[in-house]
Amino acid sequence: MRRHRFPGRPIRRPIRRLSARRPVPPKLRQANRLYQAGDYKQAALLYFELAERAQYNNLPQAANLYLRGGVAYLKISDDEQAEKLFRKSLLFCLENKRWPQLERILDVAEAELDSAGKPEMAADLRAWVMGKLPSEIQLASSQGRAEEHFTSGNVKLPSNCPNCGGPVQPKEIEWYDAANPICAYCGSVLRDE
Ligand SMILES: [Zn+2]
Repeated sequence: MRRHRFPGRPIRRPIRRLSARRPVPPKLRQANRLYQAGDYKQAALLYFELAERAQYNNLPQAANLYLRGGVAYLKISDDEQAEKLFRKSLLFCLENKRWPQLERILDVAEAELDSAGKPEMAADLRAWVMGKLPSEIQLASSQGRAEEHFTSGNVKLPSNCPNCGGPVQPKEIEWYDAANPICAYCGSVLRDE
């Protein structure tokens, strides 16, 4: 026997562990605000502090926080700090065997370095990663390609996470599934509100 339901109303089951409103540390909101306002120096310092704490707690967003700190340093032409933070970000992925995340981080760092007019730094960074990558691991994995496939789908991404204010870079975000992009900074499902 079929159960009655309201016409036109699909049954919606909340997906376990997915949430559009994850708790956000106030410092992360502040860092994202500063970054959006173009105060890159202060944003970089906060991202670095948050990244170190996340790394200490073994949280995967440590890599994205180091990455964003590096991008912030790049924007104020502090190449030395930018490179240091990019490497810390990539090293976190290498040490924790987070290969799809490694690929995403490297993609974003390269794109940022290229658009900053520093393709030689981008090439050096990739060579450095390749030198540390276990021989059985290949980048541009099938999983990476699947994620790219998702990003070309119908989900409209906001420019910033509505929950934490973090910048939304299509190359950087992780996809829970084809309908649920996840903020790299706070872990919320990204909704274009
Ligand atoms: Zn967020």
